[in-house]
Amino acid sequence: MAKIHYTKPSITELEISYATDAVTHGWGDRCYEYIGRFENAFKQHLGVSYAIATSSCTGAMHMGLAALGVAAGDEVILADINWIASAAPITYLGATPVFVDVLANSWCIDPQQVEAAITPQTKAIIAVHLYGNLCAMDQLLAIGKKNHIPVIEDAAEAIGSIWHGQRAGSIGAFGTFSFHGTKTMTTGEGGMFVTNDQELYEKVLTLSNHGRAKGQTKQFWPDAIGFKYKISNVQAAIGCAQVERIEELIAGKRRIFEFYREKLQQLPITMNPEPLGTQNGYWMPTMMVEPSVVFDREALLRTLKENDIDGRVFFWPLSMLPMFTEKSANTVSYSLYSQGVNLPSFHEIEYTQLATIADIIIGFFEKG
Ligand SMILES: *Cc1c(COP(=O)(O)O)cnc(C)c1O
Repeated sequence: MAKIHYTKPSITELEISYATDAVTHGWGDRCYEYIGRFENAFKQHLGVSYAIATSSCTGAMHMGLAALGVAAGDEVILADINWIASAAPITYLGATPVFVDVLANSWCIDPQQVEAAITPQTKAIIAVHLYGNLCAMDQLLAIGKKNHIPVIEDAAEAIGSIWHGQRAGSIGAFGTFSFHGTKTMTTGEGGMFVTNDQELYEKVLTLSNHGRAKGQTKQFWPDAIGFKYKISNVQAAIGCAQVERIEELIAGKRRIFEFYREKLQQLPITMNPEPLGTQNGYWMPTMMVEPSVVFDREALLRTLKENDIDGRVFFWPLSMLPMFTEKSANTVSYSLYSQGVNLPSFHEIEYTQLATIADIIIGFFEKG
């Protein structure tokens, strides 16, 4: 039996034909053509006014935070359970990430903990929609408004997630996306900065062009030190095809999640929630074993591996990492991580493969 990967892109003739066209003809006067198309198509999908394609989500977040004026001595609040990419750009700017606890049911940032962590140094709140699960945006936006602090969305994992009619990433001051090869839609490496705020857009546009302002007529005359996080035309061509197929890609993720939910419902676990009025893009189907149940996640991952199946550990609390300060007061984060496992969900996974995975997991629990 072939190895079952946890993620893998869905690449069709469409991606291949656009990429071939870009690499054949997309030079000289046409070297930005697919980039413009990609930004426009993504804007339309998301329902936002402005988009800038980048080489990564990390880069998009770095520029967005810089445009908000985050600098040395500032603090940015985000959830303890996260991938490092959401926190690293804060440190690039000399600011400090403040890790707060998550909610037990959504695994996303706890608004009450956010409010308690606000200081005069707080410059931004980052809402990361973990594994497709949506943050409590209404509460976060209210806290942001009351304290005059922008709420940002890292929506890298939330393609296809919709919060009361608004797509994840389109709700906060700005949103960032990743098109890394493991994500729901991919360009290999790549990302996107999106916003509805014209001023912020123009700031990031300048930053993204090595600090050269849009109206600047002098050639090779940067007005500020900027960044270099551009996407390439060939990657954008792949992105154009992926956006055309986005509904199919999202439906695929949801189909896979439904299968697991149905098959595993007898187990003492919860999976990614989908509260009323929302849709979950289910980037990564995740099983979270109930706190009262003793669970050896390493043993389950080993069992999966023995069957050539890729499982994945739930993110560690970032404050556990050696470069940060441990914050075991984040009790939910510190009790969740060892109970969670991400399950394989690449687009072309077959029902027989899903059934095999589910049977192995059920067998693992039955063995005790
Ligand atoms: C994947 C991911 C990133 C990093 O994306 P890159 O494109 O690799 O920089 C950032 N934030 C979250 C939540 C992610 O899942």
